[in-house]
Amino acid sequence: MSDEANPFESLQSQIDDAAAYLDIGDDVIERLKHPERVLETNLTIERDDGNLERFEAFRSQFNGDRGPYKGGIRYHPQVSRDEVKALSGWMTYKTAIVDIPLGGGKGGIVIDPDDYSEAELERLTRSFAKELRPLIGEDRDVPAPDVNTGQREMNWIKDTYENLENTTEPGVITGKALDSGGSEGRVEATGRSTVIAAREAFDYLDKDLEGATVAVQGYGNAGWIAAKLIDEMGATVVAVSDSSGGIYNADGFDPVAAKEYKNETGSVVGFAGSEAELTNDDVLTLDVDLLIPAALENAIDADLAEAVEADVISEAANGPLTPAADEVLEGKDVFVVPDILANAGGVTVSYFEWVQNRQRFYWDEERVNEELEAIIVDAFDALVETYERHDLENPRTAAYVVAIQRVADAFEEAGSWP
Ligand code: GLU
Repeated sequence: MSDEANPFESLQSQIDDAAAYLDIGDDVIERLKHPERVLETNLTIERDDGNLERFEAFRSQFNGDRGPYKGGIRYHPQVSRDEVKALSGWMTYKTAIVDIPLGGGKGGIVIDPDDYSEAELERLTRSFAKELRPLIGEDRDVPAPDVNTGQREMNWIKDTYENLENTTEPGVITGKALDSGGSEGRVEATGRSTVIAAREAFDYLDKDLEGATVAVQGYGNAGWIAAKLIDEMGATVVAVSDSSGGIYNADGFDPVAAKEYKNETGSVVGFAGSEAELTNDDVLTLDVDLLIPAALENAIDADLAEAVEADVISEAANGPLTPAADEVLEGKDVFVVPDILANAGGVTVSYFEWVQNRQRFYWDEERVNEELEAIIVDAFDALVETYERHDLENPRTAAYVVAIQRVADAFEEAGSWP
């Protein structure tokens, strides 16, 4: 992984690239490059051994012009103020490109959760929920899972919030377990949209997904579901990796068996279906038809991009390519379906969850998946229309042109309030 790019600067340069094609004043663009506010807090909890430990935590509310701030909370040692700001900006343009009535936010705690017990993580999560209480709410800011958080953490946050507010408000957070007001299809949604977007890109490029070779970097929730679904669509997953390394098999893996192996042992490395072991960088530079980066930001920098041999990239992770890598890949005609569209399934089904929570009326999985499919296909069509109309250099810029226009329209239509 490269540390060459500060993700917040990457976000701002992506906005600048798109602004060149938009008839929007620099003053409005300037507003759209910065978060509205950022909470920075210190959480001190008791460890199981009785000692206290302090953790830094953030919540960035980037933009609320189109609706309540929306976005996940991640637990990772690499979390920083700038990372959270960038991720909250990406959420803003993500909810805009898929045209759901939500803004953008993101939160995080600087922690490696593997080093803590479940009871410690519960105390920490409830402590963060207490700090977040005045900021969140179903009409204010609606958190969700992200890297290293899931249903368990969402249920704790919902429970803490509801207890303190003495109310029932499941729509305060999404990504909950089904019994706590979660939605069918939410866990699979990020991986699902990544492969729907890849399928649309293949169609657009007149390429066949049936028999196409695929490499997946990162085998967490988004990566492994993407591998499973693309395999079901007839593609061949020849390489996957996680933070311990990668595995390769020219004839393809059974993604479910690889996941079961990872669940048992902690990594895909050593899986019996593997012919060869690879590094993460090897997985990113394999000669495949489709590459799915599904780990963290900055996985591919300019140097690595020179070695990338995939024809299409569908970004399950947020910010996996640095702006310099984007430029290199553009020169090599690699079609990149940008994160804000490819991985937008997560927040789209979060939106469905929020709608269901508010209506106290729950949908079956078939309905969730159908509505998700329609939204991702519409967003891809809007991207392509803009890509062709402006003859843009890459699909990412097209996505930002569409998304920024939508946010700016909402801001301008609101008028001014001196
Ligand atoms: N963390 C996910 C993302 O980056 C989902 C956010 C949400 O559901 O609000 O898009």
